[in-house]
Amino acid sequence: MKQPFAITIDGPAASGKTSTAFQVAEALGFHHVDSGALYRAATAAALRADPSARWDEIAVLEAARIVEMEARKASFCPLLDGVDSEEEIRGEAVTSRVSIVAKMSGVRDWVNAQVRHLADLHDVVVDGRDIGTVVLPNARVKVFLLADVRERARRRLLQRLGREGNDAELDEEVAKLAKRDALDAVQTVPAPDAVMLDTTDMSQAEQVRQIIDLARAAGASG
Ligand code: C5P
Repeated sequence: MKQPFAITIDGPAASGKTSTAFQVAEALGFHHVDSGALYRAATAAALRADPSARWDEIAVLEAARIVEMEARKASFCPLLDGVDSEEEIRGEAVTSRVSIVAKMSGVRDWVNAQVRHLADLHDVVVDGRDIGTVVLPNARVKVFLLADVRERARRRLLQRLGREGNDAELDEEVAKLAKRDALDAVQTVPAPDAVMLDTTDMSQAEQVRQIIDLARAAGASG
């Protein structure tokens, strides 16, 4: 059987990976897999099981048994107990704890196994931190997205509030992103063969177009 085509999009928090990966997948007729959503789903499941957040790896993996991936249009989405829980997994309670859960090696193995399983079956665009280095090192196209932290904070606020943030809101968001960048630094390393895309001054449409061009040049037919 022909090996499916994989595109990896790695980069720091709020660098636009997830929305870019989704649009690239849609345009090429591939499936989008958001690995960060799996770390978030495991964290949300652990919080449901024990809101005091005094979990160890075994407790998180036990709680994460309620997580399953479901195909939705161009994306695979994690369900919690069979229900789409997008708002819960993107909320502050999960976002402020997910990097701790992502340090647990058993949780990383759990996420990586699911991503590799999907990539064995489908043409995929997977976004995350270590997809091009650890999870799918043989991917045909690897991209690492970069963007200035203040620009990332601006985009995140625009997405969350539906308007530009003021200076105080921007400062607070920059601090939160810098903290998550530091916690995630170990696994957020570009693969040696990744194409680096600095999106600070680039529109979303431009990022998507560049990655589609790379994919077509590497033989993707969608
Ligand atoms: O991409 P997103 O910000 O939703 O990811 C949530 C968290 O999941 C990150 O802050 C990081 O701790 C973890 N993560 C990871 N490796 C990945 C994807 C996400 O460690 N491949």
